[in-house]
Amino acid sequence: MNAAANVDPAELAKFSDLAHRWWDQDSEFGPLHRINPLRLDWINQLSALQGQRVLDIGCGGGILADAMARKGAQVLGIDLATKSLRVAQLHAIEAQTPDVAYRECSAEDLAAEQPESFDAVTCMEMLEHVPDPAAIVRACARLVRPGGWVFFSTINRNPKSFLFAIVGAEYLLNLLPRGTHRYARLIRPSELARHCRAAGLEWRQSRGLQYNPLTRRYWMDDDTSVNYLLATQKPLDGRP
Ligand code: SAH
Repeated sequence: MNAAANVDPAELAKFSDLAHRWWDQDSEFGPLHRINPLRLDWINQLSALQGQRVLDIGCGGGILADAMARKGAQVLGIDLATKSLRVAQLHAIEAQTPDVAYRECSAEDLAAEQPESFDAVTCMEMLEHVPDPAAIVRACARLVRPGGWVFFSTINRNPKSFLFAIVGAEYLLNLLPRGTHRYARLIRPSELARHCRAAGLEWRQSRGLQYNPLTRRYWMDDDTSVNYLLATQKPLDGRP
């Protein structure tokens, strides 16, 4: 599959339609705002963000990109949804976020243009929205410098994740709009680990992300059965 084809216009449209709400903490994007401090701390603990050049792939309205810039990183956020990028840019201006830039560009194109130019790459809640996630993983591996980190998050595919992440989140709790996630696109940790290995990225750590609807609290632990994050590193001598 070529890079230009590795995008689902219907998926982009879902996010574009809601773009004006990216920074509304009570909107459909509320869950991303609430998990943001958790994932930010996790990234920062494994790969200190201060002074690092970081790429955020599928940045949307910039929730994570903005927060990483505030931790002292020099951040580039890319996405293919024009409206979301405009909102991200506007937010950076309004909030006077230091050192964050946004660009409409695919991961594959940027990898061809600027290989090995980032100390860390993040790709959060995005792989489950593209036709060929393995190609995005390969692009991440090309974009990061040897010794640099690549962080992913996505949703596992099993009966429990169907119940929790789709039926629960979209139909019972109305945390996300119906149709946000398609079961067949969800990705098992073993599949993501295989894509990473094939791309020359080494597994470092996986973490699960949990939600209690009664307390409305999110936390991280070792249970990767529904939402999970994966940290990988490109070996110093790695040439994927
Ligand atoms: N990473 C952000 C937003 C997640 S929502 C966060 O976790 O806060 C998923 C994002 O992926 C949307 O902004 C959507 O526009 C983007 N996306 C979907 N397909 C894409 C593709 N092929 N290339 C780049 N971004 C894509």
